[in-house]
Amino acid sequence: MRITMIGTGYVGLVSGACFSDFGHDVICVDKDSAKIDGLHAGKMPIWEPGLDNLVKANVDRGRLHFTTDLAEGVKNAEAVFIAVGTPARRGDGHADLTFVYQAVRELAAHIKPGTVVVTKSTVPVGTGDQICAILEEEGATEISVASNPEFLREGAAIADFKHPDRIVVGAEDSHAEAVLKEIYRPLFLNRAPILITGRRTAELTKYAANAFLAVKISFINEIANLCEAVDADVQDVARGIGLDNRIGPKFLHAGPGYGGSCFPKDTLALLQTAEKAGIDQRIVRTTVEVNDARKGEMVDRIVKALGGDVAGKRIGLLGLAFKPNTDDMRDAPSIPIVEGLEKQGGKIVAFDPVAREHAEKLMPNVEFAGSPYAVAQGADALVVVTEWDEFRGIDLDRVAAAMAGKVLVDLRNVYDRAEAEGAGLHYWGMGRGKPSHP
Ligand code: NAD
Repeated sequence: MRITMIGTGYVGLVSGACFSDFGHDVICVDKDSAKIDGLHAGKMPIWEPGLDNLVKANVDRGRLHFTTDLAEGVKNAEAVFIAVGTPARRGDGHADLTFVYQAVRELAAHIKPGTVVVTKSTVPVGTGDQICAILEEEGATEISVASNPEFLREGAAIADFKHPDRIVVGAEDSHAEAVLKEIYRPLFLNRAPILITGRRTAELTKYAANAFLAVKISFINEIANLCEAVDADVQDVARGIGLDNRIGPKFLHAGPGYGGSCFPKDTLALLQTAEKAGIDQRIVRTTVEVNDARKGEMVDRIVKALGGDVAGKRIGLLGLAFKPNTDDMRDAPSIPIVEGLEKQGGKIVAFDPVAREHAEKLMPNVEFAGSPYAVAQGADALVVVTEWDEFRGIDLDRVAAAMAGKVLVDLRNVYDRAEAEGAGLHYWGMGRGKPSHP
């Protein structure tokens, strides 16, 4: 199959590289010439484990190409995937579809009849209908428009793409369905379930999935608060409920609230869709409220752990990216935490294994250190914000010896309380009973 991927970001580049790895002939288009120049030089625009090798292997085999020239990129395509950003529109949280519609207008003049245009971007219900209307307006005829939302997770994107829990295809005609089935054939030969449904249903499925995961996170965060008040352990509660197959163990980790480039914007966009349809979504609305409040609560927790005043205190943060194994800082919980602490006079020093470059632009007053131990040096408190694996094995005795104070606020529950206390640290976990006060 000849496939064009428009948008070469976290989703487009991984999807394009994986499709080419299945044996398809793929062209990735991006209007950002720095990204495309970098890719031509073998430099990845994002940090994603295994991506550089996958891209190189398929470029070397002549199956993966990059260009900024959209007209050239789409002219021979059998399927054109749109994987551009759909950020939350400022003010109302509606998904901003400017990039999607712009890409559709740009490609309309250059695609051949019979091409299938597929939204891989997360787009609200009815976007496919809008795309059909734009294509017609622009004079593109006999084009199928399908929806194929992406469920990969940053940090595990290649494995997720190649071994998905399911593939969702929303198609309104048999040609689009046949082309998408052919594209994904290597996967469902391996028994990946493929759900073929209507386009609007596929569009909504993505939002419903992300909203449900967000509900799980906010739910366990509220249970964690209760655990602290009644001296119970949320880790064991999560395990106790997660072993029930009807609930499942994933997304039951208490923490600083969900962030990243998807859940915050997708929950807001779902609420917008619901409002437009006149159908209240109370559970998702409350989830968003709980999550918004969570960020302020994290600041309060750190201030409290430091005795109620952080003015002039040196606070070390371990991890800044919104989750481990990515450099993505979009809507990372670290951002409001840094802002909140700085506002109260705290001095922040931080270390993240890969997100520093992005973080530096967002956090001009933060001092960046080169290792967890450098962060601990002279710190009054150490706060685990992102659960990078490399933080799990650090030497807590060495950390405690380097610090000026002894407070360890573990927003991700990566450390064992007894071990931390054994190192002389005052441990503040999440939902693991009452904190050990100084
Ligand atoms: P991204 O910002 O990393 O990448 C988008 C790319 O599209 C950018 O490189 C941008 O330059 C390019 N672009 C924009 N307009 C263009 C145009 N007209 N022509 C060519 N290139 C254009 O975004 P992302 O994180 O990859 O997300 C893309 C979509 O996938 C979003 O709708 C998102 O919600 C969805 N999604 C993301 C993830 C994730 O983990 N990041 C997972 C599932 C779904």
